Amino acid sequence: MLTKFLPNEHVKRVLDITPAKLREMGIKGVITDLDNTLVAWDVKDATEEVIDWFKEMKENEIKVTIISNNDKERVSVFSEPLEAPFVYSARKPLVRAFNRTAKQMDLKKEEIVVIGDQLLTDVLGGNFAGFHTILVVPIVETDGKITRFNRMIERRILNWMHKKGMISWEDK
Ligand SMILES: [Mg+2]
Repeated sequence: MLTKFLPNEHVKRVLDITPAKLREMGIKGVITDLDNTLVAWDVKDATEEVIDWFKEMKENEIKVTIISNNDKERVSVFSEPLEAPFVYSARKPLVRAFNRTAKQMDLKKEEIVVIGDQLLTDVLGGNFAGFHTILVVPIVETDGKITRFNRMIERRILNWMHKKGMISWEDK
């Protein structure tokens, strides 16, 4: 069961994931989390860097869909200026939103990566749904939505992964 929490990869920032790298992996689509993955949970709009990242993906014909457990207001205000398709109230780690999104992107599962900062929602859901998963370090420590319980569980799994040498970055 614990292996379902394991991302296939981990990187520091979403910006470290480049179209060239994705191409190499045969990836044509990205399903990404929003809060603390693209920007801090309390930042309303995309930063310059994130805008450029979306542009670069588009220029390289890599489809990007944002899927978030946050509400319609938050997710649409962020995503619309980027002209990125989005799913709000996704209820990750349930697989339904992931599967629906893959269908809408008209791509096979093996052509999509799932990116996010949380093991209990993004990675677990992405793994359950059968995608390649990439964990990023949360942009900020706090999170408006995450419960203390989630954090505690996540911390334990991350510590365990550290001990096993499965992750190399120091996020604390
Ligand atoms: Mg998040």
